[in-house]
Amino acid sequence: MTEPSHEAAHPPPAVPLAPGLHLVATPIGNLRDITLRALDTLAQADIVACEDTRVTGRLLAHFGIEARLRAYNDHNAARQRPAIIEALNAGNSVALVSDAGSPLVSDPGYRLVRAAIAAGHRVEAVPGPTAAIAALQVSGLPTDRFRFVGFLAPKDAKRRRQIEALAGEPGTLIFYESGPRLAASLRAMANIFGDRPAAVARELTKRYEEVRRGALPDLAAAWESAAPKGEIVVVVAGRPDEAARDPDADAAFGEDLDAMIRARIEAGGSLSSVAAAVAGQTGTPRRTVYQRALALSRRRNPPA
Ligand code: SAM
Repeated sequence: MTEPSHEAAHPPPAVPLAPGLHLVATPIGNLRDITLRALDTLAQADIVACEDTRVTGRLLAHFGIEARLRAYNDHNAARQRPAIIEALNAGNSVALVSDAGSPLVSDPGYRLVRAAIAAGHRVEAVPGPTAAIAALQVSGLPTDRFRFVGFLAPKDAKRRRQIEALAGEPGTLIFYESGPRLAASLRAMANIFGDRPAAVARELTKRYEEVRRGALPDLAAAWESAAPKGEIVVVVAGRPDEAARDPDADAAFGEDLDAMIRARIEAGGSLSSVAAAVAGQTGTPRRTVYQRALALSRRRNPPA
């Protein structure tokens, strides 16, 4: 069965696309994650600047869109940027996409955006998928504060220094990683961050999507013998804030956390298993949960 064309499924709006630079997110796997506005923009743009014309050509063909594609990537960006700015100066609309996900997120585009702003052009985001946020969402780790790190250095010594520099970061950390480097990165993180809760999200939105959650040393051990295939995001809990938390102070712990701890104690779990489970579920450091579980269980069974 052939796919319905974009025009048949959803006619583009009658309003023409405004001149300027349009930053268009595309799927990170599942093609149905494309947005209607992304399709409209790609169909209407005078030029679609993309990392690889073959990759984006396939995506557009899937949706029945014909577009003027122009390569804009790490190899030719310095040469192509003035030409794209010239096209904007001439009143054209330019859509920028990357191979997958959101442009500018560990992908080219930042300098082009700066140059377009400096030349007085309109710059608009057409938001959509990005692996970093999808992984954060499914990680089970706190989402109120996070830091996107992207790729770590491939060499051991530099990577170790980068991880050490992140040890005091209170927000949840998000890393992009490749299969062959996953075990070494997780091991280095476990050595420096200790047993913080983490999640490894692989092949998100694709057929073999997998999310593993656990303490860093356990995750490192899981892939020690065989590198996984596919694309990977590693999400790690931020700095444990034990000092700020008094296990006896009710205000320091949310009711939800207390309720989770109580439920597991009542179900007969040992304090250490309760601590491991709740820490894994919430991203709260294991030791902090353990101390709170101890405080709550003492209240239930005060020493004679
Ligand atoms: N701009 C993209 C975005 O918005 O996510 C990221 C581009 S970066 C060059 C590619 C990296 O993103 C991969 O090596 C992997 O770490 C991550 N990634 C992309 N797609 C993914 C997916 N479906 N599942 C897990 N990680 C993914």
